[in-house]
Amino acid sequence: MAQMGFFIDVTKCIGCKTCVVSCKDKNDLEVGRNFRRVYSFESGSFPNPILRHLSISCNHCDHPTCVENCPTTAMYKRKEDGVVVVDHDKCVGCRYCEWNCPYGAPQYNEALGKMTKCDTCLDLREKGEEPACVASCPMRAIEFGPIDELRKKHGDNADIEGLPSSSITHPNIVIKK
Ligand code: SF4
Ligand code: SF4
Repeated sequence: MAQMGFFIDVTKCIGCKTCVVSCKDKNDLEVGRNFRRVYSFESGSFPNPILRHLSISCNHCDHPTCVENCPTTAMYKRKEDGVVVVDHDKCVGCRYCEWNCPYGAPQYNEALGKMTKCDTCLDLREKGEEPACVASCPMRAIEFGPIDELRKKHGDNADIEGLPSSSITHPNIVIKK
């Protein structure tokens, strides 16, 4: 299995949220439901203030606490690429996965009464296209691919201030900061 993951370049991201908007558009997400989110961090002080932005969705973790705590096995990790998805035939909308994800990735669909989340744009990938966030980023700050290749290219850091420790769920992301 080639585990897939995201590379996020914080040094390139300008916080424009085009990735968030393109994801919302592609997945038809109403206000408040965001598969991808951008967090901004301030540090330093005058005359050298620093403002950085981190774009993040689901990290399709090696130890997915969302999967481990789903009482119906609706939340599962695909064998073929390690992408974590929800089976709506099994989901009862209890929201345990949401409470157990340290990244706030699962997003509850009130109208459906089911959990929803980033699936890495599986339908686009099947057509040979990139996930919407990757394709739309004007700064080319997001890459998607086999995590081993991304780590070879960019290193293996998955931690940044403001995020929970990567030791909890072993997320399949690489962050350049
Ligand atoms: S589209 Fe790119 S630059 Fe804009 S917020 Fe998302 S990751 Fe950052
Ligand atoms: S980021 Fe959250 S929802 Fe995604 S696999 Fe990890 S624990 Fe599950």
